[in-house]
Amino acid sequence: ETKKVLYFAPGPAKLARQVLMQAQKELLDYNGLGISVLEMSHRSPDFLKIIKSTETLLRQIMNIPENYKVLFLQGGGMGQFSAIPLNLLSLKKDRCADYIVTGSWSAAAAKEAENYGKVNVVNPQLDGYTGIPDSSSWSLNPSASYVYFCWNETIHGIEFDFIPDTKDVILISDMSSNFLSKPVDVSKFGLIFAGAHKNAGCAGVTIVIVREDLLGKALKECPSILNYQVQAEHSSLYNTPPTYSIYITNLVLEWMKNNGGIDGMDKLSTQKSALIYNIIDNSNGFYISSVDIQCRSRMNIPFHIGSSTGDEMLEKCFLEGASKLRMNSLEGHRFVGGLRVSLYNAVSLEDTQALAAYMKDF
Ligand code: PMP
Repeated sequence: ETKKVLYFAPGPAKLARQVLMQAQKELLDYNGLGISVLEMSHRSPDFLKIIKSTETLLRQIMNIPENYKVLFLQGGGMGQFSAIPLNLLSLKKDRCADYIVTGSWSAAAAKEAENYGKVNVVNPQLDGYTGIPDSSSWSLNPSASYVYFCWNETIHGIEFDFIPDTKDVILISDMSSNFLSKPVDVSKFGLIFAGAHKNAGCAGVTIVIVREDLLGKALKECPSILNYQVQAEHSSLYNTPPTYSIYITNLVLEWMKNNGGIDGMDKLSTQKSALIYNIIDNSNGFYISSVDIQCRSRMNIPFHIGSSTGDEMLEKCFLEGASKLRMNSLEGHRFVGGLRVSLYNAVSLEDTQALAAYMKDF
């Protein structure tokens, strides 16, 4: 039995103990077959069962409408920064797309899309990322092929508390860091994607949920492995998919289903994040979060200690104290420094309470 660590990593992130135990149990011999999932052909009937059941579970948990394809792809979240324009820029003749830029990840997505067509950043350039500019100030282009936003900015801790209204233009969301944390009306989106390594499993697989009628419009130069139609026609088995990562996602979804499902995760996320925000808000300015209150993320909570740019000594001391209590991965992202608590689904209420108690003490 390993010593317990309280793990608040931003991703790859904590997996539920039961998921790891199940993977351990099945590592050498999956289902009495005498081989590991790691060794299994992606075209074997046993793996086909795993991928099918992963899709079925995801469809159940997220209530995904029938006219959406679920794809299990490689290339990570950033692979989608290219795949989206390559597949969808040509939905309309102007080959342009609208991007709502509220943090590093949406900024990176917009920059990548510029390689393939015209990109219109709908909001004015922000000095720092601390909130979501009022949607009445966005300059949405009605002839854009799509509008793109990042639902939860993992580095800056900014999460949309509303779904942007894009009129008749299809909406695309990067849900990498808040996927499976709350119910989503999938029918409001053309496409949703998420890397698995936060709430949905381990690194290696990227989940894409895309409306069927948007397939088959890819630019000629789109690589086949990034082409949604090609991947959909082959049920994500056009080439070798990340088999083990898909298996881990399967275990995570099974775990979710048995632990309150998406509504359970939603409730828990509100509870856990409130514990930490309460400490910050009641610290008389000792802990400082610079994010506007209405778009505070429930998944990632960046903060500073002592001043808005952080007192280096105090922050170091905080991390050392946390480490003594075996509370790990609380450093802020290298772009912004400071501290960051990530509270993905597998982080328990108890672990969050322990962290809140330490923050109060400190
Ligand atoms: N989008 C968001 C919101 C992310 O948090 C990340 C990575 N943490 C990415 C995209 C990029 O994902 P990947 O590293 O899988 O390419």
